[in-house]
Amino acid sequence: MLWRLTLWLKITFPSSNKLFMKLLVTLLSAIMLVSCSHEQGTHNPQYYPNHYAEDGTFRNPYLEESEKSLIQFLWARSTTDWSDWSGHEMKVSPVTLDPQLIHQTNHPIPRVSWIGHSTVLIQYKDTAVLTDPVFSDRASPFSFAGPKRTFKPAVPLEQLPKIDYVVISHSHYDHLDVDTVEQLGDKVTWLVPLNMKAWFEAQGVTQVVELDWWQTYTEGDVTLRLTPSQHWSNRSVWDKNEILWGSWQIEIDDFNSWFGGDTGYNPYQFKEIGDKLGPFDFAMIPIGAYEPRWFMKNMHVNPMDAVKIHQDIKSNLSMGVHWSTFQLTAEQIYAPKDALAEALQKFPDLPEFKVVPIGSSFQIIEK
Ligand code: ZN
Ligand code: ZN
Repeated sequence: MLWRLTLWLKITFPSSNKLFMKLLVTLLSAIMLVSCSHEQGTHNPQYYPNHYAEDGTFRNPYLEESEKSLIQFLWARSTTDWSDWSGHEMKVSPVTLDPQLIHQTNHPIPRVSWIGHSTVLIQYKDTAVLTDPVFSDRASPFSFAGPKRTFKPAVPLEQLPKIDYVVISHSHYDHLDVDTVEQLGDKVTWLVPLNMKAWFEAQGVTQVVELDWWQTYTEGDVTLRLTPSQHWSNRSVWDKNEILWGSWQIEIDDFNSWFGGDTGYNPYQFKEIGDKLGPFDFAMIPIGAYEPRWFMKNMHVNPMDAVKIHQDIKSNLSMGVHWSTFQLTAEQIYAPKDALAEALQKFPDLPEFKVVPIGSSFQIIEK
């Protein structure tokens, strides 16, 4: 059963010391994925009423806390094909983002540009908001190992227009990148989930607003609100769930949008978001990193779950993100796109749920 794991190691580290690399990959894997999924809980909102755990960490209100083990992770890794993405990029190739589109000083119509993975630039009037900016080559604590980008960011960090606000959904390496944070620094205002501010301060960044679920930051015509999601947080094996995770309402004047971060599906949180804050003019919903389902499903939606979120939050237009950039799980690079098309066939009357190449930039015109 371990041959696939060994094959993966050979592909990833062809000329390196195997024993060292096995240890390294096990450590990386533990950091990135172990305990990323929990056993299916009894979804009883009255029994699991809030997101504060007794030990001071955070929890998912609709899941029992029963963790997957390292053994289960290794089993998932070795019994499913986490094969290399090379050779399949053509099916999802990026488009070139025209810098002129994003360098206007005023955007009378909301503009959305997908930089890659969960990094999206939202511009409306004279405000620019960036979501989960990751511009490094790897989503990893190491510069020499860990998931590597398939495609470069649609625009280099130094060529971004002026950014006012950055929202961060959670602490995982594919959403919170230390080099990117250092480079943007205090030129922007960071909106982060509870208990993340200290991490920013350790990087020397102080322009940080920390929010709990449903708390709001408002300045002028901009409202940024942390909303719930079903996920977890860690950047090492020692800090699990010490920092909160979440999704974001991004409201600029009359443009109401939502960014999903990373999340599993439950039939409560997204309906609540839709009932309280919807309808949304636009939503950015993750559609990748979901196989094998027995291991991932409580923490990462698949495209069918993403369609349920699109419906629950009352989105008038959604875009699939968190795919085709880093290979984090077992499905192929193009699979989310095909699976979303298939899922949407079952809901022909829903508003549009786009899947576009990295580098796409478009205006949201009210229908
Ligand atoms: Zn995550
Ligand atoms: Zn992620």
